[in-house]
Amino acid sequence: MQIGTAESEPGELVTGWLDVTDLPTGTPERLPVLIAEGEESDEEGPTLWITAAIHGNEVTGLAVAQDVMTDELAGEIRGTVVCIPNLNPAGLRRNSRTSYYDDEDPNRYFPDPDAESARPPSVQQLIDERVFEAFADSADALVDLHTAHVGSMPFLIRDRVLYGEKRSEDDAHELADDLEAIVDAFGMPVVNEYAAAEYTEQSLQRSTAGAALNNAGIPAFTAELGGHNIVEEGVREAAITGVRNVMRQLDLLPGEPDPGAVGPDAPVDFPVKRAVHPHADEPGIARHRVEPGDVVSEGDVIAEICTPHGDRKTTVESEHDGYVLGRMHGVAAYENDPLASMAVRDDGELVVPRDAEEGDGEEEADGDGEGDD
Ligand SMILES: [Zn+2]
Repeated sequence: MQIGTAESEPGELVTGWLDVTDLPTGTPERLPVLIAEGEESDEEGPTLWITAAIHGNEVTGLAVAQDVMTDELAGEIRGTVVCIPNLNPAGLRRNSRTSYYDDEDPNRYFPDPDAESARPPSVQQLIDERVFEAFADSADALVDLHTAHVGSMPFLIRDRVLYGEKRSEDDAHELADDLEAIVDAFGMPVVNEYAAAEYTEQSLQRSTAGAALNNAGIPAFTAELGGHNIVEEGVREAAITGVRNVMRQLDLLPGEPDPGAVGPDAPVDFPVKRAVHPHADEPGIARHRVEPGDVVSEGDVIAEICTPHGDRKTTVESEHDGYVLGRMHGVAAYENDPLASMAVRDDGELVVPRDAEEGDGEEEADGDGEGDD
């Protein structure tokens, strides 16, 4: 297999670069590539892709990607592992989430067959398309490593599988089953992605994992490995075990996955989905009354909103049962600012028609446009 200048060799870990655009300053923008290929070089073995740090400050993911790709890995596996530890060099250079090409979220421009634009694609979109072409051709599964909020607990995001013109409902169920197997194998709490309407409204079908899953039909998920900006050592270690569990589930590595060895355990035992919730209905200084991992019932106070002098103006309660994934950064709450990222009870289906209206009693979309994961 060849990805950029990295050409796989049986029994070897090889490295190289994938050029994704030329910079105005005369050098190529290039992504680091590592490929571990099993000894046997058997074509039948599966190919797992590991990608990370498309948000340049999500560095625990970067460290996990680097550390999974050991010199010994090629000697252990049957099949191939391709790894790009940093999908966003421009973000990494300045230790920030976005690239500086256009300062937009690089994880929202992967190809979506239904996306139309009257304007030519931006450089970020072209880069995402080039990465997509590389994995869509070769991946049997993909794990995209991220981090979420300051102090966030680690969790996994399982996207819903969309069906319609381009995928039958049966195929969508099969894909959802394959996805469930690798998500469960990893071993961190699983949070279902927003319902279909909010998912596409937020362009999440154009994230790395979203496009792999819903465009290329590859089982793929996003791992949120704690908070930004520093490598969280405990999460790093757990996630390496998680990724190797996925390799076991795919029969890349021998033996059964041991999800119980990863953790943390899910705080509740009912299915949950991601929700940016609740929102401040009055501006002020937010003083949270919950922490990541806290189990919350409908009506529980998530935060108080105070005046600059410290007097309580109002309290903001959860409208859902679930648990807290992370608190929003900062305490300055403007009107309708979100206060937390939560995992809330999910009664929705995991396989849904692509143009679904929110017809199953869902509340209206609760998100805001600002991604943080
Ligand atoms: Zn991210």
